[in-house]
Amino acid sequence: MWSEHQKGLYLAVSLIGQAQAVLGDLPKEKRQIFSDLVNALEERFAPSSQTELYRVQFKECRQKASETLPGLGQSVRRLSNLAYPTAPLELRDTLAKEQFIDALVDSEMRLRIKQSRPKELQSNDSDLKLVKRWLTEGQRPQYSEVSGRGYFIRSLWSQFGCLEVHGDVVVRRHMDCEFNVVKLQAVIPMSERKQVLQCCHETKFSSHLGIHKTIEKIRQSFYWPGLQSDVRTYVAGCNQCTMRKRSMKRKRVSWRLEDNGRHESKRPACMAYNVNK
Ligand SMILES: [Zn+2]
Repeated sequence: MWSEHQKGLYLAVSLIGQAQAVLGDLPKEKRQIFSDLVNALEERFAPSSQTELYRVQFKECRQKASETLPGLGQSVRRLSNLAYPTAPLELRDTLAKEQFIDALVDSEMRLRIKQSRPKELQSNDSDLKLVKRWLTEGQRPQYSEVSGRGYFIRSLWSQFGCLEVHGDVVVRRHMDCEFNVVKLQAVIPMSERKQVLQCCHETKFSSHLGIHKTIEKIRQSFYWPGLQSDVRTYVAGCNQCTMRKRSMKRKRVSWRLEDNGRHESKRPACMAYNVNK
């Protein structure tokens, strides 16, 4: 009969690959304790962490070319159940609806810009032509060569290490911390920012997302220096968003007024109760 210690020892030395990595995450004193090892392995590989995987699949779920809308709806719902098994139904519904829209937006965007446009968008921009030359030559010029030029080119100069040319398009490598993956973003010239902003904020499927969601949406595929502040300015200047905000504010004020009315009439009773206590 093996002791706990022996079992732990044998288990520990027989681990390979990702399972071995689990060993490294454990404090030294627990590495040869059988039950601790089993727990750690379960945590990493058992169905509960499977939900992490489903969450990634859920968030990255996109409409396939041959997928019908009801079909997409079904697969989004299935993934939302797998990804958030313990969440209340209402929350799961909301998440599924949002993801459904996201899955659509991207397919539309892919159609409209992603596939063919970046190359076309970049082709007339002298700054990007220059950056592309640096990249194909594999040599960043001295700063003095760009110091007198605009913010756009200076910023790209400083990010030289993150830039690459893919299929004749200048792209930026961007670490998506949420999913721990590197995304390639097409660099958008200054003159074309508005088109991308419009597409990612105002098309019928992107339905006027807020500032942060719009930024995230753009970042999935595109980049330009000053993107965040441009989105802020754009959304702040969007008529539909401003109107919606105003009407929400009005509603809130009217709720507050009703609420105050109720409290006003209740307050004396509450106070009396507290005093008597
Ligand atoms: Zn808007």
